[in-house]
Amino acid sequence: MTNQKTHNELNPETNAMFSSVSERDEKKKEKEENEENKGNEDKNEKEENKEKTTLDSSNLFPDLPKGIRQVMETLEDHGDQAYLVGGCVRDAKLGKKPHDYDLTTSARPEEVQALFEKTIPTGIAHGTITVMTKDGPVEVTTFRKEGQYRDHRHPDSVDFVTDLEEDLARRDFTINAMAWNPKTGLVDPFGGQKDLERGTIRAVGDPMRRFEEDALRMLRAFRFAGRYGFEMDPKTKEAIDKLAPTISNVAVERIVPEVEEILLNSPDILDQMTALLKPWIPELDVMLHTEQNSVYHYTDVLHHTIDALKHLPTKDPASAWALLLHDTGKPATHEFYDGHDHFKRHEVESEKIARRVVKALKLPRKMSEEIIPLVRYHDTFYAPNLKNLYKLRVLKGWPDELVEKLFGVQYGDIMAHATHDRLKSLDAFKTFYEAEKNRHPLAFNQLKINGRDVLETTKLQGPQISKALETVLKEVILHPELDSRDAQLKLLNQTAARLIREEANQKMQTKA
Ligand code: ATP
Ligand code: MG
Repeated sequence: MTNQKTHNELNPETNAMFSSVSERDEKKKEKEENEENKGNEDKNEKEENKEKTTLDSSNLFPDLPKGIRQVMETLEDHGDQAYLVGGCVRDAKLGKKPHDYDLTTSARPEEVQALFEKTIPTGIAHGTITVMTKDGPVEVTTFRKEGQYRDHRHPDSVDFVTDLEEDLARRDFTINAMAWNPKTGLVDPFGGQKDLERGTIRAVGDPMRRFEEDALRMLRAFRFAGRYGFEMDPKTKEAIDKLAPTISNVAVERIVPEVEEILLNSPDILDQMTALLKPWIPELDVMLHTEQNSVYHYTDVLHHTIDALKHLPTKDPASAWALLLHDTGKPATHEFYDGHDHFKRHEVESEKIARRVVKALKLPRKMSEEIIPLVRYHDTFYAPNLKNLYKLRVLKGWPDELVEKLFGVQYGDIMAHATHDRLKSLDAFKTFYEAEKNRHPLAFNQLKINGRDVLETTKLQGPQISKALETVLKEVILHPELDSRDAQLKLLNQTAARLIREEANQKMQTKA
């Protein structure tokens, strides 16, 4: 069952940061009290405090790559301001190693281009130049403010400005609206640090306006809340509740990566965001209200899905999408009898829904081709025998990776049930599969005969050719002693004779 957790429970790393910050605050407070008690100003001590703050700030990025430091210095030597900004400052404050560094500067894009040897005009119209340093690329964006938004997603215009604070004001959340450089230390005009300590996601400025400007921010709010185990500020949450339907203005290409991160890292938050996913997966909201009164389940369909995602053993997006969708067919197939809820053949309905969803979200073709069968067969458990190996790998034509993904999906699903009995069947087939998955032959090109042999030694034509080879392959898989060319040719001829006989019989029956 999912339950509300505080950020402290969820994130030990975040916790570490909180204790260090509160320790620091406590020390500061202690010092202030002492000063008050003394009743006079101790100049030296004040200086020491100041020094400590600077020291603290310059310590914020102990591992800042030299190449990035040099970019900042070059910009400053040129008379401009340069700050690390956004995600890297937030993560450093949380005591996490930033995964990349973004810089914001008062220099215009053309100036940035002129100052550095290797640059890429990544988003020059919006002020972003990528500077190649010896420590990798860094995005340098000119301070900017944004004009009006008329499509809930893109500003109509972008103006470059000279004031850092104006640039921070256009950013989405207070925790993402902090900047830092070694001389100034932390610049935090909207209380980002406090919100990090409290564990709050709060829009910068008026949340209604900010989400009206760009509806994607609503999804980002959940992504950050999920990632850090933070709570939404009530006004921010209220604005999302009101504006959720405007999310449909956002291109699915922007939606998908946000949702994917949530599915893989913080599925718990999904029960709060069904309204945001409604344009593409309206079933999620219905699943939240679909109870499962049966011995197999302990919660409603959506919370079962969330728990299954939490148990997914891989970070594979196709498997995560499959689990999100695996029981979407339950509301439509629900029946109540014998005192229990039943969802017969829900996987068939889920497959239909999954086909619609992968299209609506424009998921990559290869990924969709995995999601659909994973949804369809999530509830099928195979006995450990060669016939089933043949069924999956040859008849269905599943590659090895897909079979392994099915195991992951089934494991997640089982672990989110009231009993885990099915683990035994899953493990039995898994062990069998691991031992047998590389046996030869397991594909047509591993047979000792081929299509030409069929044409030369039999009278078979058209689809019957592959049917004959399929039969031969099946027999050789089930009877390994047949793995010689002679035995396979003999088998082919017997099969051909049978197929021809069957066809003749069928023709006679149709005539009669
Ligand atoms: P992550 O760790 O996921 O990369 P991030 O905060 O770096 O998080 P990015 O999408 O890389 O997120 O954006 C970098 C910064 O740009 C953010 O920290 C935020 O200040 C700003 N930003 C990004 N997207 C938006 C948006 N839609 N609206 C307003 N500000 C945004
Ligand atoms: Mg980033």
